[in-house]
Amino acid sequence: MKNRTCLALLAIALMNIALFGAWYGALAADVHWGYDGDEGPAFWAALSPEYSLCADGSAQSPVDIRDASALDLVDIEFHYSDTPGTVVNNGHTIQVDVAAGSHIVYNGITYDLLQFHFHAPSEHTIDGEAAPMEVHFVHRDSNSGALAVVGILLAEGEAANEAYAAVFAAMPAEAGEPRALAAPLALDALLPHTRAFYTYQGSLTTPPCSEIVRWLLLDTPLELSAEQIAAFTDIFAGNARPVQPLGKRDLLRDSQ
Ligand SMILES: [Zn+2]
Repeated sequence: MKNRTCLALLAIALMNIALFGAWYGALAADVHWGYDGDEGPAFWAALSPEYSLCADGSAQSPVDIRDASALDLVDIEFHYSDTPGTVVNNGHTIQVDVAAGSHIVYNGITYDLLQFHFHAPSEHTIDGEAAPMEVHFVHRDSNSGALAVVGILLAEGEAANEAYAAVFAAMPAEAGEPRALAAPLALDALLPHTRAFYTYQGSLTTPPCSEIVRWLLLDTPLELSAEQIAAFTDIFAGNARPVQPLGKRDLLRDSQ
């Protein structure tokens, strides 16, 4: 084969790879998934080859929290500051995106806070019991891309939770563009005072179910009023993936 022909064939091959890559990426991004029927959690892996871990993974989330081994773990250091936020209904949950600057440190690794969002009922269960809701604070290590998600169970109490009031008052009923919150959010007030936690290595609880998440589930729930819970469940009645097998993974509880 002449060199020029060879180069032409190589160029065509590279172009095909690029086109296939673009098509494949678009395909996965356009795949609809949900929590019901043939788009529900049992079918996520069948919706796209990029979602195969949802069925084939060995470190999936959420899990049922039981029989955790108590150890004196390092604390989670929260470095949360007041931040402007935007609230968006992304079709799967209500998510609050925050400005850069807040982070946690866990086991010597800094994870930047990106956003927090809600599930109803809770995704993690404790001894088989779900709470009405769960909030996930999603953090990323900018060096490795690994995530650390702080989960907090949300129970029903008598009074409205003032720290979350602005967020629950601003939840958009329809999917659409992010809306700015009127005032900065006091992020630290969104956490319980007691921060003992469970931890295990797991995954995103939504497609593509990537196994890149250090889960840090605080064991003190927060309380919301029935009206606050309804403000979310009127929009998303059931957006929780069922619990997944723990398998051989360590489930640890910080004994403080
Ligand atoms: Zn979540």
